[in-house]
Amino acid sequence: MQLRIPGPTPCPPQALEAMGWQMMNHRGKEFGEILKSITERLKRVFQTSGDVLVLTASGTGGMEAAIVNTLSPGDKVLSISNGFFGERFGEIARSYGAEVTSLASEWGHPVDVDALDRALKADRDIKAVLVVHNETSTGMTNRLKEISTVTRNYDKLLLVDAISSLGCINLPTDDWNCDVVVTGSQKGWMVPPGLAMVGVSERAWQAHAHAKMPRYYWDLGKARSMLEKWQTPWTPAVSVFYALDVTLDMMLSEGLDNIFARHARVAEMARERVKSLGLSLYVGEEYASDTVTAVSASDRIDVPRLVRVLRDEHDVVISGGQGKISGQIFRIGHLGMVCEDDIQVVLEALSKALPQAQKG
Ligand SMILES: *Cc1c(COP(=O)(O)O)cnc(C)c1O
Repeated sequence: MQLRIPGPTPCPPQALEAMGWQMMNHRGKEFGEILKSITERLKRVFQTSGDVLVLTASGTGGMEAAIVNTLSPGDKVLSISNGFFGERFGEIARSYGAEVTSLASEWGHPVDVDALDRALKADRDIKAVLVVHNETSTGMTNRLKEISTVTRNYDKLLLVDAISSLGCINLPTDDWNCDVVVTGSQKGWMVPPGLAMVGVSERAWQAHAHAKMPRYYWDLGKARSMLEKWQTPWTPAVSVFYALDVTLDMMLSEGLDNIFARHARVAEMARERVKSLGLSLYVGEEYASDTVTAVSASDRIDVPRLVRVLRDEHDVVISGGQGKISGQIFRIGHLGMVCEDDIQVVLEALSKALPQAQKG
């Protein structure tokens, strides 16, 4: 089966085998060694000398942690929004009482970096900027480097949802001055769902000291102090740690640059093949994501039927659209364990399935 959705992604057999290992005492020495080694290797992938904390949560738990650990009710927050997950990030902040303004562009369209500059200039009280690095819902990568240059100029906290980019697309946390960076185990990390990994800068810790949003399970301060003893505050998803222990070795032996290059190659191939079938991409190619390709269904393709035919007759699983563009696009995930041969299989199946999914 070709599971080509943007998470959960396929896991290598070694990771699946690790998921079956016997439990151990999560407060014992053995687990401590695994946690220490995972933490040290995660820092290399995050490209940070700051802290990286591993929470037992899906990605959204990590997004919530980013908000509640750095902000107080009433704080002004600017939420960059050009897709489903950008909207979610703003909603989380709003539900904890932040005063959220959206800097929105149409879904699938890039953020206007000059507008960001103007917005931060116009309101000096804005405390933090929220951004999704790779907007999985539209298959678009936001220009995080340029965005971070602006937020640095105005000395704002930058909270980043990198759930579907980290470990696949270059994101140098420290160089780009990102304060909190969140990712999730079931995306590029090639392990099952269950862990959110959160990078925290020194500036974010300073904000944490004054942040008054309610928090308990997601208190990163508790996670940091327990990490001094190589433990987690609450019982961790031990089996997913075993799997991550295995895939981090695979990732670091492949090398970050090679991983980024492989994702870029595979994505380029996906885009070229999609276009050669006479289909159009949902976003401009200069912003197209290296981890998920969104294809316009126009009014010709019945997306639910296409997804069904691919699954039932070709053993290929892809995604439809999310939220307000459901039915208008379909998405091919190509992150984590993926190579050119996989894309070849998916696009061959797509070319066979398309005639069966025409509308009218
Ligand atoms: C998958 C994803 C999420 C949601 O993560 P969950 O693990 O489902 O909570 C959030 N943001 C982005 C960009 C994602 O790709």
